[in-house]
Amino acid sequence: MIAERLQAVEAEIEAAKKRRARVSKDASVTLIAVTKNHDVTAMREAIDAGIEEIGENRIQEAKEKFGTLERNVKWHLIGHLQTNKARVAVALFDLIHSVDSEHLARAIDKEAGKIGKRQDVLVQVNLAKEESKSGIYKEDLRSLLDVVDALPNLHLAGLMCIAPNYDDVEKCRPLFREMYEIFLKTKEIPFHDANIKYLSMGMSHDYAIAVEEGANLVRVGTAIFGPRQY
Ligand SMILES: *Cc1c(COP(=O)(O)O)cnc(C)c1O
Repeated sequence: MIAERLQAVEAEIEAAKKRRARVSKDASVTLIAVTKNHDVTAMREAIDAGIEEIGENRIQEAKEKFGTLERNVKWHLIGHLQTNKARVAVALFDLIHSVDSEHLARAIDKEAGKIGKRQDVLVQVNLAKEESKSGIYKEDLRSLLDVVDALPNLHLAGLMCIAPNYDDVEKCRPLFREMYEIFLKTKEIPFHDANIKYLSMGMSHDYAIAVEEGANLVRVGTAIFGPRQY
């Protein structure tokens, strides 16, 4: 079941790449399987079916699950991170998508320094300015990017955003398009040592549009694993 759904998602990503108008049709897309609220058995099934990137959004849940999984995959923290959990996040995750304040950036930097790690991070942008969501407003993005770039134990690798949950998914398109423009502009900034290569956007209901508009990391849960039980 998971393997079949995964195949369908991968096929849809390929189809979306072909529909791109502004973005190179060849630019690759990495699929992150979001396993939050799904058990380790489901995780193993996805990995056996070819998944190499796993996304979780809660530290405690990730910690419990990762410990029992011996597979060699890349771990993504996609959810909001509290500064007091920075130590565990740094110990567990290859890429943290959710840096959205200087305070958090400094906390992650400090913990990474303690274990001699260079932590890859993305800065999360709240493009639609939804109060319920984390992320920095675009007006404040540049100064946060400069802070992250200057911190010695952080490596800035790109941007992330979550689109509002519109009933009409086409409404996400202008946001994704603007996010891609911001991504291109960010690539042009002469940073100290950042390498802006990832644009993380798109979830189960909107990933096809995100890929059409230039996402190169998509975070898909429900479309692979089915509905979550809370
Ligand atoms: C849960 C989650 C996803 C995946 O959501 P689905 O709709 O199940 O695909 C993606 N990104 C973030 C930040 C999430 O919290």
